[in-house]
Amino acid sequence: MLLVGNGLVITRDDKNTIIQDGCVAIQDNLIVEVGSTAELKGKFHAARFIDAEHKLIMPGLINTHMHFYSTFARGMASKSAPPTNFLEILERLWWKLDKVLTLDDIYYSAMIPIIDCIKTGTTTVFDHHASPNTVHGSLFKIAEATGEAGLRSCLCYEVSERDGGQIADYGIQENIDFINYCNQEKNPLLKGMFGLHASLTLSDRILDKCVNENNATGAGFHIHAAEGIQDLQDAKDKYGMGVVERLDARGILGEKSIAVHCVHISPQEIEILKNSGTNVVHNPESNMGNAVGVSPVLEMFHHGVRMGLGTDGYTSDMFESFKAANCLHKHASQHPSAAWGEIPHMLFENNRKIAAEYFEKPVGRLATGAYADLIVVDYFPPTRLSAENVNSHLLFGVSGRSVETTVINGQVVMENRKLTTLDEEAICTKSRELADKLWERI
Ligand SMILES: [Zn+2]
Repeated sequence: MLLVGNGLVITRDDKNTIIQDGCVAIQDNLIVEVGSTAELKGKFHAARFIDAEHKLIMPGLINTHMHFYSTFARGMASKSAPPTNFLEILERLWWKLDKVLTLDDIYYSAMIPIIDCIKTGTTTVFDHHASPNTVHGSLFKIAEATGEAGLRSCLCYEVSERDGGQIADYGIQENIDFINYCNQEKNPLLKGMFGLHASLTLSDRILDKCVNENNATGAGFHIHAAEGIQDLQDAKDKYGMGVVERLDARGILGEKSIAVHCVHISPQEIEILKNSGTNVVHNPESNMGNAVGVSPVLEMFHHGVRMGLGTDGYTSDMFESFKAANCLHKHASQHPSAAWGEIPHMLFENNRKIAAEYFEKPVGRLATGAYADLIVVDYFPPTRLSAENVNSHLLFGVSGRSVETTVINGQVVMENRKLTTLDEEAICTKSRELADKLWERI
């Protein structure tokens, strides 16, 4: 039994209840009660107590689109000419890096962002993986890393025909093997989705095959959709329709599926996304960094599309993504009052709804019966904090580095900034060694 108390509890329950001097009681991997510290201390007097005095206690954050494997690109000198568009970024950076990943590289390049997630308060991650010359076993390797760290994750392998039909088939098999494994194991920390790269590297034949093979698993698809203008041009040239229209026609969309980005889409496609219940995940820093354009996030949101927020490997810190999305949509719409409500709704409400498509019990809220995923944040509000203004406090007063303690599935994985499950120094040392070798192979 564990109590985390003496703090200001942000529950994110249906009433967005805030509890001054609040406490969360945890039994095994679940929250059993949320209330006042005095009351819960009296009731569970034998429990271990983590003191969050003058701090916030809030649900761990959820990242609905991430690429752990992007780690070794950090600081890498490119041997190619600088890219001038998004397709060239893929060709000259990502499709060179992913081809040389070994199972060891996959494990360590996952461990580094996993450490970052824990340190910056993200407790559930939807990852999207690619390693075309090491497909078999790759998801199981990442699962080894998330398992050792104690991070909650939903993994997938991105099927693509860019390296030929056989590698695409390996990708299908890896997804199916992994999803079946997760369905069997019923591990509350580990789930699988069916990953697809993007419309422009997938033929109708292979998409139909993916839908067919995935039919019995119950999992949805996780795919990049209309990220760069090239994806739209390709779909128009080859199939005479937009990317979302094409994915809809092939049976890829639905309530369990994630369409990432959706930058270059039409009003009709927004309607399709809404009617199919498809989740759209926005990645503000990535869109800006790759110069792909501004996704019509606010239009989709107001049209009723379930919009989530991710990082696309650009960062592991969801507080950073929150800040970037807030500024991006004010700037893009040239309206200082835009995006105040929509972006926090995507991060704090919709991401947990997307997670609920895969995980049996709720995450992203502090309530009886939810998984015990919470963070203690070093933030003593300098102005009054209430249910009405809590999102502004988090936007302007907190960053990932404010997170002091992280609990996932009832396990304390970081306490007072010290990781309890991992040896960070040893992992970073090994990671640097492997990255040096990988850079030589590119
Ligand atoms: Zn991505």
